[in-house]
Amino acid sequence: MRINVAKAIRQTGETFSFESTELFSDQTLGERTISFAEPVAVSGTYVYDGKAFTLSGKVTASVNTTCARCTKTFVERIAFSFSERFVKGTDEASDNETYPYSGDELLLDKAVLDNLFLELPIASVCREDCKGLCPVCGADRNTTTCDCTTEEA
Ligand SMILES: [Zn+2]
Ligand SMILES: [Zn+2]
Repeated sequence: MRINVAKAIRQTGETFSFESTELFSDQTLGERTISFAEPVAVSGTYVYDGKAFTLSGKVTASVNTTCARCTKTFVERIAFSFSERFVKGTDEASDNETYPYSGDELLLDKAVLDNLFLELPIASVCREDCKGLCPVCGADRNTTTCDCTTEEA
């Protein structure tokens, strides 16, 4: 996911808008593998201040997720806004608060994914009232009823 910012470099202080869509490959996050069900869509604005770019965007992503209660897989939609600075070269960008760029293109992948990982819930449920699996027989309580008795601790 890259945007050409040649115009913005020539017109310091002016705000430009962009839109970009890309299907990301699977991402590894700790023990998890994040796989995308649909292309990730990003739209927003960027402005060059003579030194760096400030880019603000809205992201919508659909991630394949496993329900923490019933273990069913489902697609979870995640939408969020983010704002990051892109600094030319690598020196300043190694401080973790900005992203590097070179030439007249901003590469958005890392900024988008970093922010997406922050937005991902640690545990997702397929629906608010998911009844989960029976801890005794493993039956999906959303679709079947079983006769097990579970003692509440
Ligand atoms: Zn569920
Ligand atoms: Zn049961």
